[in-house]
Amino acid sequence: MNRLQRKVALVTGAGRGIGAAIATAFAREGAAVVLAELDLETAQRTAADIAAQTGGQTLAVQTDVTQRASVQRAVSEGEKVFGPIDVLVNNAGINVFCDPLTMTDDDWRRCFAVDLDGVWNGCRAVLPGMVERGAGSIVNIASTHSFKIIPGCFPYPVAKHGVIGLTRALGIEYAARNVRVNAIAPGYIETQLTRDWWNGQTDPAAAQQATLDLQPMKRIGKPEEVAMTAVFLASDEAPFINASCITVDGGRSAVYHD
Ligand code: NDP
Repeated sequence: MNRLQRKVALVTGAGRGIGAAIATAFAREGAAVVLAELDLETAQRTAADIAAQTGGQTLAVQTDVTQRASVQRAVSEGEKVFGPIDVLVNNAGINVFCDPLTMTDDDWRRCFAVDLDGVWNGCRAVLPGMVERGAGSIVNIASTHSFKIIPGCFPYPVAKHGVIGLTRALGIEYAARNVRVNAIAPGYIETQLTRDWWNGQTDPAAAQQATLDLQPMKRIGKPEEVAMTAVFLASDEAPFINASCITVDGGRSAVYHD
């Protein structure tokens, strides 16, 4: 408790899944949390649930991370209500899984607009203030696709590799100003994103079982387990962790052969 006391955090894509779990964990640790989410109603519902569950302060702001002005507005609204943003979590992301040669230009752009431009839009909205104040923590939600490839998932891993590049580059650019930029690489986590992928397969139950069989721990992760790592990176318990990535996948990406 209270590991984020007096901090103000903004989490993108916080309406559900990993983002909602991070927003909840942050509020439980004493942060005031801005939920920056594409769908305002979802954001408001989740913000109200979190406030009721934790007694924390929350604010829902409609935000499209693909639009620079929209992210900037979310930051400004959050700062108006709670004060300067101390912690940013760039969590919003979408799966775009295609065959490279039949993928449309729109698929490529949609993927990069959310999964990479969205992260950059978040960073550049908060960095000037963090650099000026000489303090801040940015946590980017990458993926095990940031360093491993599964055939048929193009171009999502290309964008997620970019998230690691962005994390490392910005982490170094602003290290001397005490602004830390880190990433978390989740493996399979139980969210709507994962359920949608299973449901899109010919045999969803078999696809789910195949996923479980691949896991060293014989289960996939929970959003709350990613949130615990986000709390750590966002907090003052990680003052010398910068330009780094923590994998949260139950060991799956260490396996060479099944
Ligand atoms: P979900 O699809 O469950 O949640 C994503 C949230 O982001 C949704 O609330 C969605 O809103 C929101 N969102 C989508 N596009 C935008 C946008 N343009 N602007 C603002 N918000 C947006 O996903 P997860 O919680 O599973 O994933 C969260 C992050 O974790 C993503 O970056 C994903 O790539 C990453 N990840 C997830 C893994 C998993 O197994 N689940 C594994 C590895 C990484 P709406 O519903 O309204 O579209």
